[in-house]
Amino acid sequence: MSNDQSAMNELHWLIDMVQTIEVGLVVLDRNYNIQLWNGFMENHSGVSPNSIKGENLFEKFPDLPSDWLKQKMESVFVLKNRTFISWEQRPYVFKFKNYRPVTGRADFMFQNITLLPLASLTGEITHISIIVYDVTDIAVNKLQLKSANEQLEQLSQTDGLTQLHNRRHWQLCMEKEFERHSRYGDTSSLVMIDIDNFKQVNDKYGHPAGDKVIQHIAYLLKQSLRETDCAGRYGGEEFAVVLSKTTADEALFFTERLRKRIEESEIAFENRLIKVTVSLGINDLSVQTDNSSNWLSGADKALYIAKQEGRNKSIVFK
Ligand code: GH3
Ligand code: MG
Ligand code: MG
Repeated sequence: MSNDQSAMNELHWLIDMVQTIEVGLVVLDRNYNIQLWNGFMENHSGVSPNSIKGENLFEKFPDLPSDWLKQKMESVFVLKNRTFISWEQRPYVFKFKNYRPVTGRADFMFQNITLLPLASLTGEITHISIIVYDVTDIAVNKLQLKSANEQLEQLSQTDGLTQLHNRRHWQLCMEKEFERHSRYGDTSSLVMIDIDNFKQVNDKYGHPAGDKVIQHIAYLLKQSLRETDCAGRYGGEEFAVVLSKTTADEALFFTERLRKRIEESEIAFENRLIKVTVSLGINDLSVQTDNSSNWLSGADKALYIAKQEGRNKSIVFK
């Protein structure tokens, strides 16, 4: 084989590879006119190389983010450095449909893009190459993982029955609030709530009915809260709330309203109407409190007094 023939062969192979490689390849001249448009680009855009050769990229694809992309390309021409655009920065540059069945969730192809300066023999940058990688699988996996992690985190902080914070997470909220108080001095109130004679509810109506009652109380509690308040299911039929920037008197106003609302409401369960009451203990931070567990135990003691004094009552710890 002559040298010429072997060079021709190599060129032929090279063109074959450029055409069939599963990566998008585009070459533009200094005026963004298209000089090369490979098979990948043709397959995904539906535009053939013949019909696009010599055309201006931005005129042919008016949906491209032209200002932003031109700025990137200009810097490649001027600085003679390659530039990388990640899907996390911009999900795609060319809006191609996603046909892959495994990644059914994505409607379009996520892309990583490299802009590569192409030098002439004299070292001048006369052309630029756009390399388009389909990273839909990676992107979708990463997004799914992220959303699963968020769900897990949410689950690990939430009580399944009531959707309130679980005890552990509530405890963290409470400690944070106590620290805030230690630093800035403004008061907050801690409220402990316990359903009265709850054993009787279970005994009379059954455990599932008891669960429904717990859910209902949690629902009424959530309705009474402000955005900044933090409510949790502390135990079986006990709830705990931190009312931020609230004095004991203001908290008493809150607990009395909630107590009456609960007293007045009826919970429907299998053709029966169940009525319950709650007792509430309040402790604010106006008196010197050394640590968060003393804050909590004060509210607990007030709750105990409310029970002793006949239940269906709010008591402020003194
Ligand atoms: P008191 O007025 O003194 O609070 O009386 P009480 O009957 O409510 O007494 P206590 O608070 O000691 O009893 C709580 C009962 O709540 C005991 C338990 O059987 C029931 N319980 C705890 N967790 C759950 C739950 O998740 N679902 C149901 N249905 N019952 C629960
Ligand atoms: Mg209890
Ligand atoms: Mg109880």
